Amino acid sequence: MPSALETLVKILKLEREQGYRNTAVIGGISAFAQNWQRDAHAQARTPEHHILVDELLDTMQVYDGMESRDERHSRVSYMLDRITGRIPPPESYAQRLNEYRAAAPPPPPPPEQPVEAEADIPAPVIQEAPAQTQQNPHEANGDSNKRKKDKGRNRQERDKEKEHERKSGQARNMPRDEREAKSSGKRHADRDDDEARTETAAVPMRDSEHSQLDEVIDFSSKQPSKRDLPLPARLARPPRRSRPDLDEAAAIDLLQGLHAPVERVKGIGPKQVELLGKLSIRTINDLLFYFPTRYDDYTELMPIARLKSKMMATVIATVRRTEVRIGRSGRRDFFMVVDDGTASMGITCFGQFYLQRSIQPGQQIVLRGQTSAYQNQIQMTNPEIQPLDVEDLNAARIVPVYPLTEGLNNRNLRRMIDKALEYWSDRIPDYIPEGTLERLDLADLGWALQNIHFPEGWDHCEHAERRLIFDQLLMLQLTIMANRRQWQSVPATSLFVEDEPLEAVIEAMFPYALTGAQRRSIGEIRADLARSLPMNRLLQGDVGSGKTAVAATAAAIAFLAGGQAAIMAPTSILAEQHYRGIGAALERIPEAIRPDGHRPVVGLLTGSISAGEREAIYNGLRDGSIDVVIGTHAIIQSDVEFNNLTLAVIDEQHRFGVEQRGALRGKGTNPHLLVMTATPIPRTLALTLHADLDLSVIDEMPPGRTPVRTRVIEPTQRIKAYELIEEQLELDRQAFIVYPLVEASDHIEAGAAVEAFDEIKKIFYRHRVGLLHGRMRSDEKDAIMRAFRDHEFDVMVTTSVAEVGVDIPNATVILIEGANRFGLAQLHQFRGRVGRGGYASYCLLVCDTELPEAVERLSALERTNNGFELADIDWKLRGPGDLIGTQQSGRSALKLMEKINSLLVEQAQREARTIYEEDPDLALPEHHLLAARIRALQDDRSDVS
Ligand code: ADP
Ligand code: MG
Repeated sequence: MPSALETLVKILKLEREQGYRNTAVIGGISAFAQNWQRDAHAQARTPEHHILVDELLDTMQVYDGMESRDERHSRVSYMLDRITGRIPPPESYAQRLNEYRAAAPPPPPPPEQPVEAEADIPAPVIQEAPAQTQQNPHEANGDSNKRKKDKGRNRQERDKEKEHERKSGQARNMPRDEREAKSSGKRHADRDDDEARTETAAVPMRDSEHSQLDEVIDFSSKQPSKRDLPLPARLARPPRRSRPDLDEAAAIDLLQGLHAPVERVKGIGPKQVELLGKLSIRTINDLLFYFPTRYDDYTELMPIARLKSKMMATVIATVRRTEVRIGRSGRRDFFMVVDDGTASMGITCFGQFYLQRSIQPGQQIVLRGQTSAYQNQIQMTNPEIQPLDVEDLNAARIVPVYPLTEGLNNRNLRRMIDKALEYWSDRIPDYIPEGTLERLDLADLGWALQNIHFPEGWDHCEHAERRLIFDQLLMLQLTIMANRRQWQSVPATSLFVEDEPLEAVIEAMFPYALTGAQRRSIGEIRADLARSLPMNRLLQGDVGSGKTAVAATAAAIAFLAGGQAAIMAPTSILAEQHYRGIGAALERIPEAIRPDGHRPVVGLLTGSISAGEREAIYNGLRDGSIDVVIGTHAIIQSDVEFNNLTLAVIDEQHRFGVEQRGALRGKGTNPHLLVMTATPIPRTLALTLHADLDLSVIDEMPPGRTPVRTRVIEPTQRIKAYELIEEQLELDRQAFIVYPLVEASDHIEAGAAVEAFDEIKKIFYRHRVGLLHGRMRSDEKDAIMRAFRDHEFDVMVTTSVAEVGVDIPNATVILIEGANRFGLAQLHQFRGRVGRGGYASYCLLVCDTELPEAVERLSALERTNNGFELADIDWKLRGPGDLIGTQQSGRSALKLMEKINSLLVEQAQREARTIYEEDPDLALPEHHLLAARIRALQDDRSDVS
């Protein structure tokens, strides 16, 4: 592809990734278009190319003016489709063909390639290399070893060439196209089978034309190509192969085979079984669906000499020297100088002195991280460091990186997965109906699995992800809809109260007037409760919006109607808070309201109450003398029995799994269920994750709140932040200081907080400082939180475990370190810890990177106090990972879920609804496999828990 088109494709894809905010190029796409078209026309070889450039130019010029995201989305997709030749040129442009034909000499006719190819394909696209054979893509698999070797040899040869060039002092000056041309012959030879897998609608190009093209494209003067290695394959649409003629029983049998233990895979012995077990990989299915968290792209390496400040880059270099440097605070940092032949740079890893032992001078390593400049020198701080795996490099491809466990390295895990795929990628029966795949342009299952692990190119990887995410969404929806149907088939107790007593109760219970949103939510809940169809409602409301009052009212309705209610919170301190708050509110219910004059009896049930108290609560619940129980998981223990549980409320529901919801529901004869959350989820996503829930939203804050004043600050301004904290402490207020989860390991997390704790104690030596982190036992955490609430200390140093929902009105400052590592929605939650008591409150976000995107993202918190808005921004920028509780979808699913976009969610929803409406029991023959798959996954899950 000419470099101008290639550049445009990159820009369009970036624009798509960034949510169509016209940020992919500085100055916007329309401004970029003018310069671009000059190059693009200069590089165009045929009239078809020229009209393509014209059309793209016209579209780009109007891009800035488009307001709606959807419109931009459709224009970008259209442009990509045009470039890749999936769509023919529109009539209006096709008419210009003759003008260009008249103006330019005709291109030389292709001698070897059949001419029909051109007639078939309307939009000619210039492509790297000719597709010579149309092999069955799956047959090509067997050649992959050979290909790897070929590439290895190739790489070494080119290395030699480069070495030679370097010695003669030419390498940097030599035009890029010449170097490209040198290796292009060989590259074509070993790309044949790669290309056979791709299905780009392109006009095959002869070698002669290719070299002409190389002359036209002057890589060296414009954007220098980053590539040093063969280009990854391109793939516009996922290939589809016809399904094997399996009868249904055989296909279901094969699917069952996936759930056999992993040791069935060749080469996996007892030792590996044990290691895999630690990653919860027990069956072949677990192994195949254990997805990489990221990929190392050895096709996009950067020479150090080309690095600029503030970019993410991957570099291969040799370690020159290493040392441990002692920082001001006594912290021991690891420092090294690395060199890749083009330049050298310094690398600092804060606090990671132990690297000194494992990283030796002379060693080749792969570094991946963000660059910065210090005194005009490019450097990297805290990059990911891996020893160079020559095998990966020789493979010259996109290499999967998996989450690991001690004793198991990526290479071994890759081999095991590769072995499993060798058998399964061609055999796994596809349970999604073919028509669905066709309609939504989704890849076949076996192909998708092959390419999620070992993608041939980024396009392949995207297609694979799309397919696998779609599967998860579809099955999630179908399961949820089936569950809903099942529990709705058992009637609930109708809980009805008249208007007047309800008004009187609300009046008595709360010292303030309810907000309109609270009233509306209560109205919706009340209407649900009055029916004998069990309620299943999600109450969503920002931190501090007053969900507790709504829950208390629901409990009051249950009490007035003569039923029991249970309220479950994720921690005992929160349960106690509700016990006091809701308990006191219920106490204020006027005496004469219940005809029998009965007063509400409220019990507290947590893990920390004494055995005697627990016994009393158990008895009270069983004989019905307790009306409302408030507690933790302790409520759903199997020995807890209710006399007449009619309403169950779950607070902070994202902390609980679907199973726990089920367990609480199982405590009564189908009680009504109300779940509450402060995690705002964009509506489309909510509709999928909570397809079984009706939604009430509190979108209004109680009056009189002063918004928390929020500022993003640089690490150098930390002193100022400490001064502000000191000031507040002098006023007898309290402060939180939150440290990020440095890595997905409790151990390191605790380490960071403990280290910081010592420092903070020194800084605030006149005050009392407490520590709370994830490695503490839950009773320890509770004790600390309680002590902080009771103002037994002034500053709380904590990690992201900082409790949700706890009311500490005296806390007025929260300082969040490494704020850029958190999602906006989560930061918003943290911010909700302060500003609950009517004092002016502050939230300070320390951004420990200079990346402009990071600062920009965080500044959204300065601009808005609206959790929904923030969640929306989060989703656009980071994917929905932060918004979905882990429990919702399982770990491996979650990794993929980060990539879901609203279009795919909608498509899966529509498909699920269509299937469900037509065939709710999945009884039709075309749904049998799907039903078997869903069943098998459910069985797997219940085996583990
Ligand atoms: P959340 O929705 O985060 O659970 P809470 O229910 O804890 O919020 O309410 C936060 C605070 O707001 C509590 O101190 C509560 O008493 C107060 N509050 C709730 N509703 C109102 C209201 N309508 N008017 C004034 N204050 C209210
Ligand atoms: Mg709450």
